Amino acid sequence: MPRPVRVRFAPSPTGLLHVGSAHTALFNWLFARRTGGAFLLRIEDTDVERSRQEWVDAALDVLTWLGLHWDEDIVSQSRRVAFYQQRAEELVRAGKAYYCYCTPEELEARKQEAIQQGRTWQYDRRCAHLSETERQRYEEQGTPRVIRLSVPPGKTRFTDSILGDIEVGNSTIGDFVLVRSDGWPLYHLAVVVDDIAMEISHVIRGMDHVSNTPKHIQLFQAFGYELPEFAHLPNILGPDKKKLSKRHGAVSVSEYRDAGYLPDGIVNFLALLGWSTGDDREFFTRAELMALFSLEQVNKRDTVFDLQKLHWLNGQHINTLSAGELFPLVTPFFIRDGLIDEAGLAAQRARILQVIELLKERCRTLVDFATQGRFFFVDQVDYNPKAVEKHWKDGERVAERMQWLRDRFASASEFSAEHLEAITRDVADAHGLKAAELIHPTRVALTGEMIGPSLFELIVLLGKETTLARLDRACAALGETVRVGK
Ligand code: GLU
Repeated sequence: MPRPVRVRFAPSPTGLLHVGSAHTALFNWLFARRTGGAFLLRIEDTDVERSRQEWVDAALDVLTWLGLHWDEDIVSQSRRVAFYQQRAEELVRAGKAYYCYCTPEELEARKQEAIQQGRTWQYDRRCAHLSETERQRYEEQGTPRVIRLSVPPGKTRFTDSILGDIEVGNSTIGDFVLVRSDGWPLYHLAVVVDDIAMEISHVIRGMDHVSNTPKHIQLFQAFGYELPEFAHLPNILGPDKKKLSKRHGAVSVSEYRDAGYLPDGIVNFLALLGWSTGDDREFFTRAELMALFSLEQVNKRDTVFDLQKLHWLNGQHINTLSAGELFPLVTPFFIRDGLIDEAGLAAQRARILQVIELLKERCRTLVDFATQGRFFFVDQVDYNPKAVEKHWKDGERVAERMQWLRDRFASASEFSAEHLEAITRDVADAHGLKAAELIHPTRVALTGEMIGPSLFELIVLLGKETTLARLDRACAALGETVRVGK
């Protein structure tokens, strides 16, 4: 009977959750959801120097935000130290591990000797062969001791679900330390003891752990526990093909959250780092990923973090949401940028929904709504110098044309997009102009920018009063430029 699927995500809380860790979390989560298994969370905080509760809290916050909800209680390794010690002692009693009394100085001296003789150094198993009397003498002297695993000669083999068959000689593993002389468990011991206790069926983690796996297998075997399946996920590289790091820009998930990316956009993007359905398909909803994901389709080749793709995918996900769904996601960014306050949001909800609807197609991030929609909220727009340069060159003439349009808008019988467009085309025809010659300068006057959503629709949303006031201000500004120019 196949084992029930139980996977775990085991972050070390030494910093903000890295996108690489989120990638590992996601692949575990998708695998669990696809197979109906359990997705467990374990905090690997035995490195007390580097671990901090605030990083644990931040990781839980980000996982929750990403929608990667875990099953069962969280396991925290720092609370289980006695358990790891107890399990290591069991191995000693079973003859699978032993106490080692070699001091760091002795070890260093023997290591240097080995290096000088051109040998690679592994612990030389001196304490594996201590007689009972020797051992007792050390104990009586109170010599500090560590616990080492007794790794048998031979080879360690396993079949990684992604990498295929892997084999290493046990001489390269060495009798590694399980428990330090101060009683503190080492990483490998804690991982394997917990994987056993949590009945983990599949260990899915980053490629950087593949070299640890033979050690873990030795420990699983020493405990007499059936091996889990192993799957090591591909490395994530920056565009320069070097391991993704801060040099490449934002690497923590929370930075992407703050930059206005959606959980579904990030999930979709991370899923494509090393996984595909075998065709060119890139857009996937969460439900589709949960239905389609499989470890067999994970590629072992390094994968490149392509920010452009994240940006594009995020825009696609934004586009699937209605203005009503976007409202609670976008408005915190309006507030963050000081465009509006809570009271304003409540009072202007209907208008803001229209603003969101109008901008939606053009926005790739939630922040874009605040930057591209800024002109809807401010009293006075700032004119982008590039837009001025391009569309307000001939100030006098532009002001004259804008004035024609302003007067027609002022007397418009109805303030609808269709009607305003008809008026604009009519003015253009009457003066032998192309409509664009009116539209572009007017956009600069109303938004400060040279690109943006449909001019006539945005005019309707700005309302007649604001539109006329901005056209007046633009005409005045153009007049001034002309005067200064003269
Ligand atoms: N705590 C390790 C890390 O954050 C993961 C260990 C594991 O998955 O076995 O890289």
